[in-house]
Amino acid sequence: MPDAPRPYDPACIFCRIGRGEAPASIVYRDADVIAFMDIRPVNPGHVLVVPIAHAGSLADLAEHDGQPMFSAAQRLAGAVRRSGARCDGVNLYLADGVAAGQEVFHVHLHVLPRFAGDGIRLAAFGRQQSPSHHAASWMGLRTQSAGRLAPRRI
Ligand code: 5GP
Ligand code: ZN
Repeated sequence: MPDAPRPYDPACIFCRIGRGEAPASIVYRDADVIAFMDIRPVNPGHVLVVPIAHAGSLADLAEHDGQPMFSAAQRLAGAVRRSGARCDGVNLYLADGVAAGQEVFHVHLHVLPRFAGDGIRLAAFGRQQSPSHHAASWMGLRTQSAGRLAPRRI
């Protein structure tokens, strides 16, 4: 039986880049993933890794599309370090939802080169808690995370 067509949204800029219908500086492509330079880089060498299949949010992303995104990001983090861009460290960053800062509603992972003094920071710090303080969220998370990922493609 032929594979089902990949989810595609003609109004989505990352879907259009994936199909070659919109321009981008593409640095990597395979059957599942495309990676290209961010149009507004936070630091030079800032890359976006994007599943070719459209998924607006993590909840919509099939596990078999999420895994290649992470694998490609891991490889690209190494590539950025070796590329000559100033890169003493890397942040992988994913915004899921408006409250998390998501602007493009096609899941993507930022590969962000970092160096000391680059001025980038997540401007909030948690307060240390003992395990007993985790109780309320911890039990709910355990229940919700058990077996909730989409089945693997075989
Ligand atoms: P988000 O906040 O959704 O994680 O980040 C979206 C990112 O996509 C931003 O860093 C933004 O600069 C980048 N971006 C938005 N539109 C385009 C585009 O058309 N081409 C490229 N290359 N990057 C884009
Ligand atoms: Zn899309």
